[in-house]
Amino acid sequence: MRYVEEFRDPKAAKGVLAAIARVACEIGATREEPVRIMEICGGHTHAIFRYGLDKLVHEGIEFIHGPGCPVCVLPMSRVDECVEIAERPGVIFTTFGDAMRVPGSRKSLMQAKADGCDIRMVYSPLDALELARRNPDREVVFFGLGFETTTPSTALTIQQAARERIGNFTVFCNHITVPPPIKALLDDPHMKLDGFVGPGHVSMVIGIHPYDFIARDYGKPIVVAGFEPLDLLQSVLMVLEQIRDGRAEVENQYARVVPEHGNPVSLAAIAEVYEERPSFEWRGLGEIDASGLRIREAYRAYDAEAKFGIGYAVVRAKVDEPEGCACGAVMTGRIKPTACPQFGRGCTPDMPLGALMVSSEGACAAYWTYGGARVASETEPAE
Ligand code: SF4
Repeated sequence: MRYVEEFRDPKAAKGVLAAIARVACEIGATREEPVRIMEICGGHTHAIFRYGLDKLVHEGIEFIHGPGCPVCVLPMSRVDECVEIAERPGVIFTTFGDAMRVPGSRKSLMQAKADGCDIRMVYSPLDALELARRNPDREVVFFGLGFETTTPSTALTIQQAARERIGNFTVFCNHITVPPPIKALLDDPHMKLDGFVGPGHVSMVIGIHPYDFIARDYGKPIVVAGFEPLDLLQSVLMVLEQIRDGRAEVENQYARVVPEHGNPVSLAAIAEVYEERPSFEWRGLGEIDASGLRIREAYRAYDAEAKFGIGYAVVRAKVDEPEGCACGAVMTGRIKPTACPQFGRGCTPDMPLGALMVSSEGACAAYWTYGGARVASETEPAE
């Protein structure tokens, strides 16, 4: 049994930082020509800033913050559809708390609740199912949101609802998958990425092999990582060593938690309840093929899109981002959050303009929480 202190040991961290500096020098990384490593997961972005790893690593390492925060990549159109469902008479709309303040084009769920909609925060889809049992005369909708980490719990809840034949419970499914947006970023000719730190929680469910294409087809190293500072530093070192040695492989730094082939129970539940959508819209990235999941025909009675005739069940209009919002550029690593003209001015955690400032895993919220407020007050906005 390993304890968390081992992964926060300053002496061990100094040793890994020295090794990172040595390998970074061997491959010629400099501040002007950095090695660009994308941490895909928002939890990693948060940990990097929480522990100041971006300041501690060799100056030739640049962290690029990826699209791995499900709240951040939720497009405005989907928030609008949540509000539209919540406004229907008789509906109890349930959601995780971090989605409440994501701006829609008309209003957020928080504002809709203030306007009188019955919107309730829950900690699990099972809480929503319990609400449906207790309120048989109401229609209870659960906002299913997240990557492969949260998808199984929604699938298992739908299976439970079907077993009990509960007729007043549906899921507004916004579950998405990690590999397709990575492929989209790698196919973007403007993106220059040298390697990846892979998501730990998602990989607990799917294993490490869904990332094989990154090494095989694009020649880039990826190391699945844990969330403690030494996990991340060791993963960065493993990526650098692959680059130095001319290797491109999928490695698993987080083997104490991530099984090579994932979690078979979770994977079976996902496969039974969901199927791939032809495409799904991502904030800042647009429509990405096969990147979202929808509820299979066998469970269609639990699909809020079908029941309410909304979302991909009908022809959808694209909703533009608010003017001045640079979420797309931040999410694809083109600019840092502090380069957004709205950072700390038109967009703060109290009054977020973009989703990256809402979620604790969003890159803008991480910058703000760990020093960005000071940076914003000291710098002129970018043009
Ligand atoms: S500061 Fe706000 S508007 Fe700018 S990129 Fe971040 S979340 Fe989007």
